[in-house]
Amino acid sequence: MADSYDVVVVGGGTGGYSCALRSAQLGKRVALVERDERLGGTCLLRGCIPTKALLQSAAVMDAVTRADEFGISAKGEPDWPAVRAFEDRIVDKLVSGVTGLLKARKVDVIRGTAAIGPGPSVVVDGRTIAATDVVIATGSRPKLLPGVEVSEHVITSDQALWYPNIPTSAIVIGAGAVGLEFASFYRSMGAEVTIVEALPRIAPLEDEALSKELARAYRRRGIAMHAGARVQSIGEAGGRATVTIDVNGQATTLTADICLVATGRAPVTDGLGLEAAGVATDRGFVKVDGQFRTTVPHVWAVGDVASTPLQLAHVAYTEGIAAAERIAGIAVADIDYLGIPRVTYCTPEVASVGRTEEQARAEGRDVEVEVFNFQGVGKANIVGEGGIVKVVAEKGGAVLGVHMVGPWVTEQLSGGYLAVNWEATVAEIAEFIQPHPSLTELFGETVLSLTGRSLNA
Ligand code: FAD
Repeated sequence: MADSYDVVVVGGGTGGYSCALRSAQLGKRVALVERDERLGGTCLLRGCIPTKALLQSAAVMDAVTRADEFGISAKGEPDWPAVRAFEDRIVDKLVSGVTGLLKARKVDVIRGTAAIGPGPSVVVDGRTIAATDVVIATGSRPKLLPGVEVSEHVITSDQALWYPNIPTSAIVIGAGAVGLEFASFYRSMGAEVTIVEALPRIAPLEDEALSKELARAYRRRGIAMHAGARVQSIGEAGGRATVTIDVNGQATTLTADICLVATGRAPVTDGLGLEAAGVATDRGFVKVDGQFRTTVPHVWAVGDVASTPLQLAHVAYTEGIAAAERIAGIAVADIDYLGIPRVTYCTPEVASVGRTEEQARAEGRDVEVEVFNFQGVGKANIVGEGGIVKVVAEKGGAVLGVHMVGPWVTEQLSGGYLAVNWEATVAEIAEFIQPHPSLTELFGETVLSLTGRSLNA
């Protein structure tokens, strides 16, 4: 009996623990297999939480650097061991929180590396555990460019968290969320930063207006950027990282203390025995349908390892819960990935939900668009930071997309999030009154402007 469960989850990250907790809540006997010493996976140990702790230290540094603008005399400099100690404290607290929750729900945590066996079952270091249902939640790891290896001066986000010092200069390859956040962090800490992006613009998956506004802000912060740049080589010479790039046929060699490669993340499936178990993959990711079923009955996959569109913690969390409910026989609607909030915690922050203007037009919709600047809002002037809000709507109809760059926009997206997911119309949202003075006034004003009633347009 001890080696037989209703649900065995492989992987103790966000997707895995949310699935285990919800399964236990639904009355299942659950085991969770994790090979790392600690639970929490990428988000808690190497991703969202430690990087946001670093970015909080960066925000304090920025406030000190700009203190005189606000009439305060202050001087300060980063103390890297203390910054890391702050980061560790936050991580430790949250890891123990998750560990406690699993214990309280009586989920058996099994330490070791799992493979998928027949039945289905899970084999953990030679021990077979029978299960009615198995959930694969093994996550992802940083993807390096072909031929590039991690070394003293060439690192990924994993090594950046434990690097012995703050570099005085950094080349960041890749201008997606991870690259943009580290570029922002290093710059706040005083480093010379250069971003290299293969696609024509930074934040390439966002609405073009956001990319342009962010590029302006980064330029003002003194961050150099090469978009549309092909990396020809990455290496080390004379104790520094060297990167040769090609922009419009022109080769340039850049050097810096470190080169951080942030070119995406690859699924972790090594040793899982997927092929032998008959679990199909799609470009390396475990192939799932809209309900997280793999090609083998009673074997499911969620989170970064699954072939679903977004690699984000709140996506893994939602998928884990949805899979647990499906396993328990509860009808669950397919997730609408377009309605999921996308967030990047650089300075200024980036947040968006729904369709970009380009996507809405490509669908053949009759689209109207409004863009407002944070400088038109009193609170943004007090905070001393700029940015934009862009709303994409069906002419005279529903809000299709909300796109923001600016101070704390990751906290302000919720109004736009509700509007898009509730399929609210511009006229309905324009009725809501925003508090004054607040940064959320800008979303309200942008929507109001689409009704032709803004006094500021
Ligand atoms: P993971 O968290 O990777 O967990 C997988 C677990 O499975 C790991 O603990 C691993 O040890 C275990 N495992 C793997 N193979 C086996 C095996 N064979 N046997 C047993 N155990 C195994 N997302 C956001 O939403 N917001 C953010 O701000 C954000 N910031 C990020 C910053 C960085 C630098 C990075 C790298 C990622 C960030 N993410 C962010 C993404 C987020 O961390 C991931 O989407 C999320 O953690 C994925 O969860 P998961 O459960 O799918 O996988």
